Amino acid sequence: MTGTTPAIEITGLRKSFGDNEVLKGIDLSVHTGEVVCVIGPSGSGKSTLLRTVNRLEEPSGGSLRIEGEDILDPDCDIDSVRTRIGMVFQQFNLFPHLDVMGNLTIAQRRVLKRGKQESAEVARAMLERVGLADRGDAYPAQLSGGQQQRVAIARALSMNPDMMLFDEPTSALDPELVGEVLDVMKLLAAEGMTMMVVTHEMGFAREVGDRLVFMDDGLIVEEGVPAEVLADPQHARTQAFLSKVL
Ligand code: ADP
Ligand code: MG
Repeated sequence: MTGTTPAIEITGLRKSFGDNEVLKGIDLSVHTGEVVCVIGPSGSGKSTLLRTVNRLEEPSGGSLRIEGEDILDPDCDIDSVRTRIGMVFQQFNLFPHLDVMGNLTIAQRRVLKRGKQESAEVARAMLERVGLADRGDAYPAQLSGGQQQRVAIARALSMNPDMMLFDEPTSALDPELVGEVLDVMKLLAAEGMTMMVVTHEMGFAREVGDRLVFMDDGLIVEEGVPAEVLADPQHARTQAFLSKVL
């Protein structure tokens, strides 16, 4: 992968909310096809980092490139960049008044200007991928949390993103529903999707992650091969965190 342009290139990234500096200089590159898992205590800045990657939050400093494009440049068309970045949140954020097909087609039609038939075909293909081909006419409230999150993933995939950002996608789920969502994410990873995943699922990080990043207090404290970081953390703060969650 050396020599290729990273999918995501974060350099010296800072973000403050008022006096509270939440990101204190983050350097992180995610290469095409790579799965980077981000762990760390609550409040360490993980969500802010993900949200900054597609400028849902404006950074206070540093640079941010998506597929080589400087997305902090005032001339950057951030809307066009955002269509290449799929995002999945802890709360599924489905449109409650639209059925599953409606949820999967609305942005395709409004943002990508796809026609009715094409957007429906894409939606059906993505529902198939997440194992919900038969639920196109269900409303979100009629689905389990695991199914809703799989719909949210299918909705993101319907935009044909180059990369996917996941912010604790299984944290709001009952334990017995976590596996079905992780299975979909594993499939995506195996297909070569570039992914940045904030998670507390250490088994997933070990099995699927190419790299594990530990954040604490707005900084990357440690990163490496997941199995190695999990088995033999080098920093006291990583050790303390892992001793609580493993
Ligand atoms: P994590 O996802 O690791 O739990 P967050 O990125 O959500 O951490 O939050 C990091 C810090 O930033 C917290 O102190 C939080 O209160 C603060 N923060 C996050 N979003 C905002 C916001 N929109 N306004 C003010 N403070 C925020
Ligand atoms: Mg968070």
